[in-house]
Amino acid sequence: MSIFIFGEWTGTDLHDSTYELLYEGRRLADILHTPLTVLFIGPPEGKEKAEELIKYGADRVLLALDQRLGDFRDDVYSRIVTQLLSKEQPEVMLFAATAMGQALAPRVAGTLRLGLTAHCIGFEIRPEDKALVQIRPSFGEDVMARIISRTKPQMATVRPGIFPKAPKDDNRTGHVETLALEEDLFVSALEILERQEVPVKDISLKKAKVVVAGGRGLQNKELFSKLFELAQLLHGAVGATRPVCHLGWVSEEHMIGVSGATISPKLYIGFGLSGALHHMVGLKGAETIVAVNKDPEAPLMRRAHIAIQADVREFLPLLIERLKGLNKK
Ligand SMILES: Cc1cc2nc3c(=O)[nH]c(=O)nc-3n(C[C@H](O)[C@H](O)[C@H](O)COP(=O)(O)OP(=O)(O)OC[C@H]3O[C@@H](n4cnc5c(N)ncnc54)[C@H](O)[C@@H]3O)c2cc1C
Repeated sequence: MSIFIFGEWTGTDLHDSTYELLYEGRRLADILHTPLTVLFIGPPEGKEKAEELIKYGADRVLLALDQRLGDFRDDVYSRIVTQLLSKEQPEVMLFAATAMGQALAPRVAGTLRLGLTAHCIGFEIRPEDKALVQIRPSFGEDVMARIISRTKPQMATVRPGIFPKAPKDDNRTGHVETLALEEDLFVSALEILERQEVPVKDISLKKAKVVVAGGRGLQNKELFSKLFELAQLLHGAVGATRPVCHLGWVSEEHMIGVSGATISPKLYIGFGLSGALHHMVGLKGAETIVAVNKDPEAPLMRRAHIAIQADVREFLPLLIERLKGLNKK
């Protein structure tokens, strides 16, 4: 019996989510009185960082090291994970719901015919049988689903940013093992032709004290773009719901919620957005929530500290004009 987590290499360092998985993995391992193992797949230069994960709560670190593992290839990585899980048969295997984790976990689950719960935001251990209760918002509904796997290892991906990072303890000790990798594990249908770094724009959403967010109720891109004007007046950042990102009104970096950012501003104002659970999960840390919606029964209106029943088409331009007026005085 053991809990496994996947240690993700970004190309230069371990992904932050690895330390978050260590935090939650350690907590679960302590409840189950079982060891916590990290599986690291990457190039030899990642070895030192991976070994250090013992100090962050791992009991055991398994290293799959090879220069050819420097670039993530779904087929090669999933073959290594699949082979290891078949051999080790852990109780639980957790991945971060990063781009890599979301590509890898379903492949492994599919190959081994295992259940997989995506984008979990919490876990519990069911006392009677020690099953892993995997908690995640359900599809568009205002409920948290509690899911139990029928297959083992119980596999889940975990939303980044939900758990704190595991603290470092220099006195911790554990085992490090380097896995022997057979040559046929490296056969790949993928050939990497080019690498392009995507510049990460700092839209400061996570650090902003004020966030003004918009949803489908804003009707169109033009009205949505007024939020940028408002954000500037309030020295804040612009957030969005998933549908408006998919409509192309704003880039996905602005998305708040289970598939986007988790924010903790002092003030959050939601314009023309319903407040679906998938979105609300990202607002966990918001101090004051203001909702502007024409429907008083919208979930965000019911949860807001201040609920303003209004048509955003009139309210938003008016608010901007008033604030501009105040700034002139
Ligand atoms: C797996 C999964 C993951 C998801 N992840 C996310 C996520 O991370 N983030 C996220 O936001 N969503 C996410 N979603 C989508 C989520 O479930 C909701 O569908 C979405 O948040 C709703 O977006 P919305 O509020 O913009 O639109 P709607 O739910 O359509 O709400 C529009 C609101 O605008 C109001 N309105 C309409 N016209 C006006 C007007 N003129 N004036 C004032 N108010 C008006 C309406 O009353 C309504 O309340 C996810 C869904 C799934 C299935």
